[in-house]
Amino acid sequence: MIDSHCHLDLLAQQKDLQQVLSDAKQQGVEKIIVPAINESNWAAVQILSEQNEDIYYALGFHPQFLDGLSEHSLDNLASRVVSSVPEKCVAIGECGLDFYHGRENETLQKQYLNAQIDIANQSQLPILLHCRKAHQDLVALLKRNPPKYSGVVHGFSGSVQQAMDFIKLGLKIGVGGVITYPRAKKTRATIAAIPLESLLIETDAPDMPLSGYQGLPNEPKMVNMVLTSLIELRNESGQTVASQLSNNGKLTFRFCD
Ligand SMILES: [Zn+2]
Repeated sequence: MIDSHCHLDLLAQQKDLQQVLSDAKQQGVEKIIVPAINESNWAAVQILSEQNEDIYYALGFHPQFLDGLSEHSLDNLASRVVSSVPEKCVAIGECGLDFYHGRENETLQKQYLNAQIDIANQSQLPILLHCRKAHQDLVALLKRNPPKYSGVVHGFSGSVQQAMDFIKLGLKIGVGGVITYPRAKKTRATIAAIPLESLLIETDAPDMPLSGYQGLPNEPKMVNMVLTSLIELRNESGQTVASQLSNNGKLTFRFCD
């Protein structure tokens, strides 16, 4: 299994990292992708991956953390990845649009997202997308400036139509703990119906606790329970779902083994 979206650097502030990693491994998690939120944690996610064989990372700017960035921020990202992608940097992100708290910095969010898509395309990397209260805007922006090397809309919750909007753009749908909640009827129905080839699993740890684990920090080992819920929702056999999901991760992030 691959946990395709896990903020391990943040989780490490709450829990013993070595324990978290050995628990994850025991549950069959072979690879963990740690997205950055902005320049402030690029070094941290890179160091994590250098110190741990199973950890990979992404560099980028999360739309909620754009305040106070320098005008050189985007140049700094480009200069880190465009000429030669650092070893184990497997994506750009997490980036995207978030209008949950309003549209005050809509222009800035779109500027950063467009620039990060350009950087991903130039460096031949997929992107990790975050989308909250911004579906139409995100789809419109991606249509004008399509990511050429795929990517994933992480932490997806929404309708089949919304998922298909992204799938038609060559993107994957990242599914996490939300499907473990029986009340998440719409998202569960969506995840049951869209093509298996378009799904990735994730935890978004330390956020997004699974049903029954509210109030506790989420951990990469829980991706196993996300997979179990996914298997329950799908018509295919458990083995088919598990091996297809593993393939999807390898293809998206170009892992060789
Ligand atoms: Zn995230």
